This record gives sequence, structure tokens and C-alpha cells, in this order.
Amino acid sequence: MTRSITQDPARVLAALVTHLRPDWDVPGILKAIYAAKDRGDAFRVAHAALYAAETPTNRTPAVIALTGEHWARGRDVGAGDTRFERCDVPGDAHRSFPKGRCGACRADELAADDHSPTPVPAPIPATYTGGANLVRQAAGLPIKEHP
Ligand SMILES: [Zn+2]
Repeated sequence: MTRSITQDPARVLAALVTHLRPDWDVPGILKAIYAAKDRGDAFRVAHAALYAAETPTNRTPAVIALTGEHWARGRDVGAGDTRFERCDVPGDAHRSFPKGRCGACRADELAADDHSPTPVPAPIPATYTGGANLVRQAAGLPIKEHP
């Protein structure tokens, strides 16, 4: 834990929370923030207050100081983001991407490509060109010759 929330940041946070939840008053929010200040650092308390305010079923700001989902969603600084599972390939470039959809892994795949040209497509079978020409003939268009 780094720093617990102090008076000025708590007032700013309370102003933000009451802006987002006009039905919650600043004194009630401040009381809840002060009651919760030992539960985590300033970031964690701010996260919890915002998550609590975001939940419409939370009817009063007193819920901020109570145990609940809003504390599980918040995190201490440096504790890592748990919103998605990160790519497990070693390296900082991979750690910011979700596992299975990693941009760094895709870049590695592209870099490993031997750049060999794609094979020339097979000639169009005569049955296909014959069918296409039947359609052209029916539509009154000129017949095409294919190699
Ligand atoms: Zn990766």
C-alpha cells in the first residue's frame, strides 16, 4: 500500500462521486471515504468509491465503506489488472495484451514468416468457364476465352 487518502483528495473524490451520483450528498460520501480509508491506498479507495457509485442498487454512499463487489473490482496500485488474463509469453510487449489475442504474438508470427510468394492459383477449370460463358450468352454479353 502506498499512501492512504488524505483530506483534499477525499474532498475532490467526494465532489466527483456526487457529480456522478447526485442522489448521494458530499457529507455522506466523505464520511464513507474516511471510514474506508484504512482499507487500501488512495487509489483503491477511489476505485471502490467510483465502483460503488456506479452500481445503481447501492442506495446510499455508506456502502463505500462496506465490504462488497466494489472492493473486489478495485485494486492496489501495482497489483496488476485482473480484468483479463494476460498473454503468458515472457516479455513486456506481451504483458499488455490478452491471452489468445496478443498483438506481440501476432507480430512475432509475421516476423517469422519466410515471405515466400503465395502459389499461383490453378487455372480455371473448363467446366467453370463454360458455365460462365453460358451465363454471358444468356445475358447477351460477349463470350470470353480463358487460358
Ligand atoms: Zn503474446
